[in-house]
Amino acid sequence: MDLSKLWNYMQSDMEADRFSNEMKSSANRRLLLKNAEILKEQQVRFAKVDEEITAMLERLDSQKAETERVSQLFAKTMEEIGDVSKLDENEIEDKMKLVERLSATFDQCQRELTRLAKDADNAVQTQNQIKRLAAKTKAEYDRVKKEYDTEFALGKQKLKKLRDAADQLASGLDPADLERYRQIKQHVTPPIAKLENNQCTGCFMTLSVGTIRGIKASGMGVTCDNCGRLLFLSE
Ligand SMILES: [Zn+2]
Repeated sequence: MDLSKLWNYMQSDMEADRFSNEMKSSANRRLLLKNAEILKEQQVRFAKVDEEITAMLERLDSQKAETERVSQLFAKTMEEIGDVSKLDENEIEDKMKLVERLSATFDQCQRELTRLAKDADNAVQTQNQIKRLAAKTKAEYDRVKKEYDTEFALGKQKLKKLRDAADQLASGLDPADLERYRQIKQHVTPPIAKLENNQCTGCFMTLSVGTIRGIKASGMGVTCDNCGRLLFLSE
């Protein structure tokens, strides 16, 4: 196992990984994701208020119908009272009481209508406000997206160069060594650590005499007992 070649390859591989992570955590990318999230929240809020408005308008319609019904009944009763010749005293008294009740109910209906109309108006204003905010968020999203797209295109080119350089080094490796490297990398990264002062520089554990002897003797891929990294004894 040629650990020195593998070590060189790792430097190149890690550089490409680092750059790839940098791209993923770029400020513009995070801002873009944040704006997308805010936009989604605003859309959900907008839809919710929209539902509320629909319900309010339905209540407003039925309240209008009820007010109209009371109003007509009031007019009819007043008409009946107007024609006193057809009524006796008791009937007149009953009708007067009914008129009083209808009048009170009508006032109540009017107040309810005013309240409902005001609520619906407020909801529409809230909705407009959300719409304005969403438009602002969308504009910000589009602005960042444009910047990010440029940044991403350049980044992709650079990443490809770094990957190509790493692949170039990989082609000079023993395929079995590369496979071992990749398997270790799935569990721990970077997958190779130097051995210094009898310690693994990946996890800083002091290694057993047996392990150290193994590394010095064979130069075969000996791994750290603690973190599983391949240990590299540099000259
Ligand atoms: Zn270790």
